[in-house]
Amino acid sequence: MIKLHEAYEIVISTKIKLGTENIELQNSLGRVLAEDVFSDLNMPPFDKSAMDGFACRYQDLYNELEQIEVIPAGKMPEKTIGKNQCSKIMTGAPIPKGADTVFIVEDSKEISPNKIIYTKPKPEIDICSTESGNAGKSNICLIGEDIQQGAKVLDKGILIKPQHVAVLASVGCVKPLVSKRPRIAVIATGSELVEPEIKPTLSQIRNSNGSQMMAQLNNLNVDANYYGIAIDDEKATQDIFEKAMSENDIIMLSGGVSEGDFDFVPKILRNAGFEIKFDRVAVQPGKPTTFATAENKICFGMPGNPVSSFVQFELLLKPLLYKLMKHDVKLLNVILPMASDFTRKRAGRFSWIPVTISEKGEVEVIDYHGSAHINGLVFADGLIGIPIGIKSLKKGELINVRQI
Ligand code: AMP
Ligand code: MG
Repeated sequence: MIKLHEAYEIVISTKIKLGTENIELQNSLGRVLAEDVFSDLNMPPFDKSAMDGFACRYQDLYNELEQIEVIPAGKMPEKTIGKNQCSKIMTGAPIPKGADTVFIVEDSKEISPNKIIYTKPKPEIDICSTESGNAGKSNICLIGEDIQQGAKVLDKGILIKPQHVAVLASVGCVKPLVSKRPRIAVIATGSELVEPEIKPTLSQIRNSNGSQMMAQLNNLNVDANYYGIAIDDEKATQDIFEKAMSENDIIMLSGGVSEGDFDFVPKILRNAGFEIKFDRVAVQPGKPTTFATAENKICFGMPGNPVSSFVQFELLLKPLLYKLMKHDVKLLNVILPMASDFTRKRAGRFSWIPVTISEKGEVEVIDYHGSAHINGLVFADGLIGIPIGIKSLKKGELINVRQI
């Protein structure tokens, strides 16, 4: 049996080649960017008005101004602002030549046709300050102040979120280069299993792991493919396994990795040319987690119990999948106080326990009966890790909560 951190090191250092591909921008959400992206233009591309208002020379602000033009967004100004002149300007429109200030519509008054005044009183000390901090330039966004042409806007390796899609769009990167998604086969083993639409008979249970594994994988936007239930028969399991292996990079099995008479998975892995890197981990839940590799192939044998399978996915498979797609995943951890004392009976394994975060921001341990207690995860906001040797946690003690 190996320690969890040793298992993690073995898993995370495993490599298979995935390659890259260009995809449509609208399909890029949740993919991992495989190139640095640079801006093809300045942003803003020209000095533009940040408000609806009037553009003028700062030195004329308290004079009566003559309006000489209306400048809508999307149109170049035709006139240059001279002494005591202004142009009505819309948000996003280019600033006319000669102007260095925009005052907002709400602070203006048309005293007669095309005669505009600024209605704010003149300050006693004229500090020429502006809200945007550009001395002398009020309500004007300067060319290139957000992004300079040629500057890097996104780093290779980011996981593309909606805000990144916006940046890609703004620099015209309509076919971003992304890492290819690993193809992953999901197989549930066990003669007691029936698919969810079937009402189990006395000795049967519903296959919840198949759906759980597919959902966990789909959450990471990888190419997950369901291969159904393999009954506890060596030949039947081997046939499904071989088909899945020929069509995928990674195989995720559940069940069949314990010590039972019908737990064939290790034998099938060896027959298929896999090297079993570990098959017992000092972790709870999930001790029988099995990890094996072959040339450009990976197999995860998850424990049959649903909570174990869930937790081992979070601890081992999820970081590996991101790593294979060349994304350096930052797991979401928050440090919060325990809501009450917690004690466990044995401390021989690294334990991961589902918790909720209360409205007061305290960590409440979920009453969880064991690794088959699938409902234990229903209200879980995260998991807390309790290292080997530690038996209890005190109320108020700060603990790292890994969000799930
Ligand atoms: P195993 O690892 O095959 O010995 O299974 C351990 C426990 O998990 C047994 O009680 C199984 O019935 C249960 N189990 C195995 N596979 C699944 C599954 N796909 N969905 C729900 N429970 C399962
Ligand atoms: Mg089984």
